[in-house]
Formats: sequence, structure tokens, C-alpha cells
Amino acid sequence: MDDLRLDGRVALVTGGGRGIGTAVAKRLGAAGAHVVVNYANSEDGARACAGEIIAAGGSAEAMQADVRDLAAVQAMVDDVLERHEHLDILVNNAGIVRDTLLLTMSEEQWVDVVDTNLGGIARCIMAVGRSMMLNRRGAIVNLSSIAAAHPNRGQANYAASKGGIESLTRALAVELGRKGVRVNAVAPGIIETDMSARVRDEAGKEIKNRVLLRRFGQPEEVAAAVHFLVSDAAAYITGQVLTVDGGIGLS
Ligand code: NAD
Repeated sequence: MDDLRLDGRVALVTGGGRGIGTAVAKRLGAAGAHVVVNYANSEDGARACAGEIIAAGGSAEAMQADVRDLAAVQAMVDDVLERHEHLDILVNNAGIVRDTLLLTMSEEQWVDVVDTNLGGIARCIMAVGRSMMLNRRGAIVNLSSIAAAHPNRGQANYAASKGGIESLTRALAVELGRKGVRVNAVAPGIIETDMSARVRDEAGKEIKNRVLLRRFGQPEEVAAAVHFLVSDAAAYITGQVLTVDGGIGLS
């Protein structure tokens, strides 16, 4: 379908050096976008991802910026805008977990998670939003989690950050809609990446029994939902959260 093609568009994927970010970057690259694969520390992964996109006939580059640092994010975005003139798609994927009960949580564990997951998204949109508004075109997808609605024990910081992301998504859809910029979120369930390895190791069988489809998700299955939401196939969709969880939220 033509409305899923992204030819001529420039996409920035934060935390693209592994996991869901890499799958999203590859999918958007295969759909024709030039992909900026952002990383904070995973330089090898981000370069490998950009290399794979190029080897498959696409266009990509890896760029460093920690989403906790507004000046670094702004410098990365300004560099992209100077060379490409527009930035049409932003996928706010970078995220971390520091699971522990709130009453045993250090202030650092609270601040790290909220500032990376929620603050990082706000900073990236601060850096990119103006140019999208001026171009009257933009699609932003924020990575939430089913933990926003169905938190597990030990996830107070992570669940709060993801709940904040869903509220931020709606608030920015309200602020940016009239300028032609759409803002949506994707809320994955348990996806097979490094981030979920501990949970899968510790309670994998029990969790899988709660998934209606009886399996964990793959990063590519989240990437497909992100691709849909940033494409013209979703041109009339904004302020929504699309859950990609195999039905675990219903069990
Ligand atoms: P992951 O840990 O494999 O990858 C996260 C990426 O974000 C890494 O490349 C990491 O280096 C990067 N990152 C972390 N802090 C950063 C920073 N300050 N600046 C830039 N990049 C940074 O995790 P994943 O499973 O691929 O998760 C991707 C997103 O999906 C996250 O937002 C996560 O919360 C969300 N999610 C994942 C699952 C799951 O089961 N894996 C479920 C729900 C939501």
C-alpha cells in the first residue's frame, strides 16, 4: 500500500542501538525513510543497525545524544535539519528500567527512570517540534508500556514514567494537532529484548499463560505498529495509545 511508504521522509529513532529501537529503525528504513539511529552508549549497535539499513538499499546514519541532555539532543536535531532540511518522524523509544519496590528505591533510581523515559521524550519533542510545526507535517510515536495501566510490583518508577508518557502524548496531540503534527503512543506487552530478560527468566511461564496469544512479542511486531502510526495510513489518528501485548491486558 502506498500510504505505508515513507520515501523522502527523515525519521529519528531514539535508543536505536538494540531491541525495539533497532527493529523500528530497520522497518522505517525499509519503507523508504532516511533513518537517524540515535544512541547514548550503544554506538556499535546503532552503527550496525544503520549499516544493515544501508546494505538493504536504504539510507541511514547513527548519531549520539543522551536523551537526558537537552543541549545534546538539540545539537543532534539541528545537525539533522541542517543537512536534510526537515525531520518528519520522531520515534521516542529510549527507555530504561530500575525495578524495585518504592519503599526500597533510591532517589537516583526514581529520578533516572522518570527523567530518561518521560523527560527524554519531552526534550526530544522540544527539540524537534518547532520544525515539524513550521513544516506543518510531523508524526511522533512514544513508546509507553502495558505497565502504565497494569503495573507489576517493583515498577512504581517505570509505571509512573509510562503513565506520564500516555498523558504527555494526549497533551501534545492537543497542542500540535492544528499544526499538522500527530502524536501517538504504542504500549507493548512483554517483548523479547534485553530489557525484559529478567522478568522472562523469573516468571516467564506464568506470564506466558496470561498472554491470550500464549507467547511473548517480537520487536518487529512492535515496529509494525509504530510504522503504521507514523505513516499516512494513520493520517487521521492522533492522541491514541495502541496496545501491542498479545492480549495480556485482558487476562
Ligand atoms: P532495550 O533496553 O533493549 O533498549 C533500550 C534502548 O534505549 C537501548 O539502546 C539504550 O541504550 C537506549 N537508551 C537508554 N537510555 C538512553 C538515553 N538516556 N539516551 C538515549 N538512548 C538511551 O529495551 P527495549 O525492550 O528495546 O525497549 C524499548 C522501549 O520499549 C522502551 O521505552 C521500553 O520501556 C519500551 N517497552 C519495552 C517492553 C519490553 O518488553 N521489551 C515492554 C513495554 C515497553
